[in-house]
Amino acid sequence: MNTQMHKSLNTQPEESELKFHCPVCGCNEFEIVETGVVAFSPILKVTATGGAQYSKTLHDYTNVEEKWYECARCDYRLEIDGDTISAPDDKLLLAWFRINDEGGY
Ligand SMILES: [Zn+2]
Repeated sequence: MNTQMHKSLNTQPEESELKFHCPVCGCNEFEIVETGVVAFSPILKVTATGGAQYSKTLHDYTNVEEKWYECARCDYRLEIDGDTISAPDDKLLLAWFRINDEGGY
């Protein structure tokens, strides 16, 4: 009896994970795409022979124009009733998963 009590105290309720399943190509990877992100690399030095050494690429997100979710393989954009879901929107993302839930994935 003690063991069971101990178990139930340590067991976190696990949230079931919804799996992406692209309706076009069947791929199970998806991503957020952002346009308007500026990437820049500080120049560390330029040598007399013309070689340049750059630092790690940094990103400026201040002018992000548009974000959406899409399939990582075929570029299908997640949409509901023909409208592309603007990211991030957890509620619409969940709605998309519910609409497209085929079970077993
Ligand atoms: Zn796809």
